[in-house]
Amino acid sequence: MSTSILEDIFLKRSQQKKKTSPLNYKERLFVLTADKISYYDYDIEKGKRKGLKGSVDIDKIKCVETVVPEENCHSDKMFPFQIVYDEGPLYIFAKTADIRKQWIHKLKEVVRNNKDLAQKFHPCFWVDGQWLCCHQEVKQALGCRVIESKNVCRRISRKPLPPTPKEDEACVRQEKASRPLPPQPTPSPAPPPSSEKTVTAMYDYTPMNPQDLPLTNGEEYTILEMSDTNWWKARDRHGQEGYIPSNYVVEAGNELEKYEWFCKNMNRSQAENLLKKENKEGAYLVRDSSKAGKYTVSVFSKATGEAGGNCRHYNICTTQDGQFYLAEKHCFGTIPELIHYHQHNSAGMVSRLRHVAALEERHAPSTAGLGYGVWEIDPRHLTFLRELGNGQFGVVKHGKWQGKHDVAIKMIKEGSMSEDDFIEEAKVMMKLRHPHLVQLYGVSTKQRPIYIVTEFLSNGCLLSYLRETLKRPQPIQLLEMCKDVSEGMAYLESQQYIHRDLAARNCLVDDYGTIKVTDFGLSRYVLDDEYTSSAGTKFPVRWSPPEVLLYCKFSSKSDIWAFGVLMWEIYTLGKMPFERFNNTEIIDKLLSGYRLYRPQQANEKVYRIMQDCWREKAEDRPTFEVLVSYIQDLLYELQEDNSEIQTSWRFPEIL
Ligand code: ADP
Ligand code: MG
Repeated sequence: MSTSILEDIFLKRSQQKKKTSPLNYKERLFVLTADKISYYDYDIEKGKRKGLKGSVDIDKIKCVETVVPEENCHSDKMFPFQIVYDEGPLYIFAKTADIRKQWIHKLKEVVRNNKDLAQKFHPCFWVDGQWLCCHQEVKQALGCRVIESKNVCRRISRKPLPPTPKEDEACVRQEKASRPLPPQPTPSPAPPPSSEKTVTAMYDYTPMNPQDLPLTNGEEYTILEMSDTNWWKARDRHGQEGYIPSNYVVEAGNELEKYEWFCKNMNRSQAENLLKKENKEGAYLVRDSSKAGKYTVSVFSKATGEAGGNCRHYNICTTQDGQFYLAEKHCFGTIPELIHYHQHNSAGMVSRLRHVAALEERHAPSTAGLGYGVWEIDPRHLTFLRELGNGQFGVVKHGKWQGKHDVAIKMIKEGSMSEDDFIEEAKVMMKLRHPHLVQLYGVSTKQRPIYIVTEFLSNGCLLSYLRETLKRPQPIQLLEMCKDVSEGMAYLESQQYIHRDLAARNCLVDDYGTIKVTDFGLSRYVLDDEYTSSAGTKFPVRWSPPEVLLYCKFSSKSDIWAFGVLMWEIYTLGKMPFERFNNTEIIDKLLSGYRLYRPQQANEKVYRIMQDCWREKAEDRPTFEVLVSYIQDLLYELQEDNSEIQTSWRFPEIL
């Protein structure tokens, strides 16, 4: 038996593995060793350890943190802490703050090298099917607070977490009463000075203005300045300096993004579309799995038994000592090594990995503007092509910038917009950059009409896409659409930016089927009372919560309400919300508690999300950050249920 590092008697809360299990507290002797934390029944009189009641393997632990004590709690429950592992949190109550500190410190030390350390946690208890901090009702829901300890920073974080939005008031209030302990000091190597940062280009970049530096896919560059998050000053290996789009490069160390088979931000439906379109035996790609931080290999094969062939998805698994595998017998230190092996050996997969999928179709992401510091666009550089539609501000056209870059151009009908205010705001909007927001490239304001130039999305508006293009979509596809929008909105929320007119008509679809949110904040510059006054005929009453209809109170929480309605539009394939009612009737109905019905395609869990968005009080609605994790969990569940996901090499043989 390994020697004990710490031993103490604590109060332990029952784990409520089922919603109905009783909540009780028992005194247990806790013993921490290098590989387990175990708890025993204890004979206090004789001072003797009795039977083992349970244990948690150290390498399964995802996080160790304090917990905010419940209000008016008994004195023996004032110093709780939590050990989070696969089965949820284990709550333990120490007798004093010092003892708790000592245990947390030790535990953090022993779990330091665990593979699955969490980046977020719930600072308050899980009670009766709900997290007290964020009111999420899924026990596995991603934490609502970022862990500030250093062992998180040392991990390679693929997607930077958005800044924590304002916490739930209740949570902040409780938090003040007992702040979590400051992070424990753990030695970590000092980061290299930022001037020494080396990056690798993932795409070619041709300068759009004289201050820019060209990029060649695969080459390394030294970063000299990062004061603008979207455009970094860099030096190439010949000593030439200039600005580069920061989303075209990847930091040395984030190896995967360098590989041509890696498709960041691609979901399962998009991977299937791409692979099926290509229709090549053994075409493959590696993508982010719906489970954060994990990866999935998607392969196309004609040997699946289905007519015309089909896709298989294999999760890349990790062993306890951090090796990667698709087939348990073949483990590798890195994912590229694993892919290299399976390029030559199918080893249980439906096909070996023969062709990187649709290479020629991969296009570079949009840049924040058309070159560093450029936001005024010379109209002589624009060529007008087809008319795309007609909106609140007039005609929108597809065009080219400098003859080669696709753009959408909104030609602002005179008298339809308060132009000066918008032009000021455009500088702020240009800095908003996210894969699920339609990028504003710039404006042409020296002539009339003025133009707003944005990223072009070939599949047009989401509402028409739902109504006309989508044919018998799978449940996963609909949820992926909701996820896209929620991620774009979570970014806006993190920037404290309110959309004010979120709806399917204000989302666009690109050629892969990715959804992006557009027209954020634009409604503030509309000069049309019918649109801006909540009593107007064009006001988005059907997407508005009570506080907007009654007091014009816009917030990220009113965006949340609109998001619920947008989910409803997605799940009804573009029906008009409250179809049979006029605006006055809708307001009456809403105020008396009436809500949109559950669309046929939406299951109970999906409908619960919509209902959460339509809680009467704004503060009771979730944040977008929380919604993203809800949706991610649901997507994961859906994929788990789906027999096509294989987690190890044995499954293909069974199927
Ligand atoms: P407004 O918001 O000014 O009322 P919209 O943005 O709705 O106008 O534009 C009208 C139509 O033009 C949309 O329904 C869509 O079909 C098309 N459109 C607008 N922006 C783009 C774009 N960036 N890419 C592709 N199509 C677009
Ligand atoms: Mg619009």
